[in-house]
Amino acid sequence: MTLDRRTFIGTGAAAAAALSAPKVYAASNGGGKPRVVVIGGGSGGATVARYLAKDSDGAIDVTLIEPTRVYYTCFFSNLYLGGFRTLESIGHTYGTLASEYGINVVHDYAVGVDRDTMTVTTAGGHTFPYDKLVLSPGIDFIDGAVPGWSVASQNAMPHAYKAGSQSELLKAQIESMPEGGTYAMVAPPNPYRCPPGPYERISMVAHVLKHKNPTAKILIADPKKKFSKQGLFMEAWNKYYPGMIEWIGPDFGGKNVSVDPDAMTIDIDGTVEKVDVCNVIPAMKAGRICEIAGVTKGNWAPVVPRTMASKADPNVYVLGDSSAQGDMPKAGFAANAQAKMAAMVIRGELTGSRVFPAKLSNICWSLLAENDGVKVGASFEVTDEKIAKTGGFVSKPGEDADLRKATYEESIGWYEGIVSDMFG
Ligand SMILES: Cc1cc2nc3c(=O)[nH]c(=O)nc-3n(C[C@H](O)[C@H](O)[C@H](O)COP(=O)(O)OP(=O)(O)OC[C@H]3O[C@@H](n4cnc5c(N)ncnc54)[C@H](O)[C@@H]3O)c2cc1C
Repeated sequence: MTLDRRTFIGTGAAAAAALSAPKVYAASNGGGKPRVVVIGGGSGGATVARYLAKDSDGAIDVTLIEPTRVYYTCFFSNLYLGGFRTLESIGHTYGTLASEYGINVVHDYAVGVDRDTMTVTTAGGHTFPYDKLVLSPGIDFIDGAVPGWSVASQNAMPHAYKAGSQSELLKAQIESMPEGGTYAMVAPPNPYRCPPGPYERISMVAHVLKHKNPTAKILIADPKKKFSKQGLFMEAWNKYYPGMIEWIGPDFGGKNVSVDPDAMTIDIDGTVEKVDVCNVIPAMKAGRICEIAGVTKGNWAPVVPRTMASKADPNVYVLGDSSAQGDMPKAGFAANAQAKMAAMVIRGELTGSRVFPAKLSNICWSLLAENDGVKVGASFEVTDEKIAKTGGFVSKPGEDADLRKATYEESIGWYEGIVSDMFG
C-alpha cells in the first residue's frame, strides 16, 4: 500500500505490520543518525525525548522544542493554590535532558510543520528537518466557547489550566478576595484535560477560603450532568466546607453561561452576578501546532492506538492531551505512558530494535482537604480500534482517615516518580 501523507490511513493492518516487522531505517540526511524532533516538553514530550535518547544509546539524534525554560506541572498546581506546595516545587528545567542525555533542547516556539519536506520551523526563524516528528503540545482553548471570554481576557479571568503564571495570578486573586466575596468557576465540557481537575481545584480554593475568608462563597457553572469522582467531591464539600459551594449543573442553567471580564460579571441562565474571581476553563482542543501540521480531525488528532502515529501521517506521532486514542483520560500519567510506548515504536522503526506490546495504566489523584486524598484509576489494552479500558478502581465515600492520608502520600510518591521519569 502506498501511503499518502496527506491522507488518513487505516489503523489495524498498518499498525500490526509496523509492530511485527521493524526495519532499519535509512535516515533522510544521507547516512547520518536518524533525527527525531519533539514539539512540546511536557508530560508526553519530555518523556518521549528522554526515552528515545536513553534507550537508543546515542543512535538517534533527538531535538526537543519547548518555549519555556521552566515547565510547571499542571498536576499539583491545585495543591499550590491550596497552600500545600510552593510554585518552585512544581517547576522543572531541561538541563539534565541536555547534559546527561544529549538531547538538543531548543527553547523556541514551533510555528510551522511541512510534512512534505519533513521540516519544522520555529518563531525564532530556525528550521529542523526530521525523520520522525512527535507532537505533544497539550491543549488550547476553543475560541468563543464561553461567550465574552477570549485568551485576551485571561488576566482578568484566568483559566489556570496551563500552569505557571496563570496559577500565580489565580492564587493572588483568591487571596485578595474581599471578605464574603464570590469565586466563580466556569467548568469545561467533556473531553478535557484532567477530568477531576476543576473539582480538586474547588476543594483547594474552599480550603483557603475556609481559613482566610470563611463567609466567601464559591459558584460552579457546569455544562456536565455529572463529573469525575462526583460522590467523593460532594461528600467532602459537605463535610469540610458546608454551605460554601454551590454547583449549578445543566438542569439549572450551568450550560447557559457568558461572562463580562470588564464588568467582572457572570451570567448564568439570565441571572447576572458580580463576582470577585472568575476562573473560566473553556472547552478544549488539541494544541494549535497539531492543526498547523494538518493532523487534526475535529478538535483532536486521531492516532493509531498501537503506535501513537497520526492517522494522517505515519512519520508524525501525537501524544498526550492532543491525541484521540480511545479511553485513556487526558492526564499526565497517560501522556507519560503513551510516550514510553511511542518511544519504543519509533526506536524500533529507526534502529530495528524490538518492539513489545505495551501495558498502559492511569491514576488521577485529588486532594480534598489536608491529608484527605482520593484516586481514580484504570488499566488499558491496545486494540486495533482504540486504547480500551479493561478495568478500573475509585476511592470510596466514607473511607477512614488513615487510608485517605495514605492515598495522599501515594500521590506525592507518584509525583516524584513521574517528574524524574520526564526530566531525568
Ligand atoms: C489543574 C490540573 C491538575 C492536573 N492534575 C493531574 C494529575 O493529578 N494527574 C495527571 O496525571 N494529570 C493531571 N493533569 C493533566 C496533565 O497536566 C496533562 O494531561 C498533561 O500535562 C498532558 O501532557 P501533554 O504532554 O499532552 O501536554 P503538556 O504537559 O501540557 O505539555 C505541552 C507542552 O508543549 C509546549 N508547546 C505547546 N505548543 C508548542 C509549540 N507550538 N512549540 C513548542 N512547544 C509547544 C507547551 O509549552 C508545554 O510545555 C492536571 C491538569 C490540570 C490543569
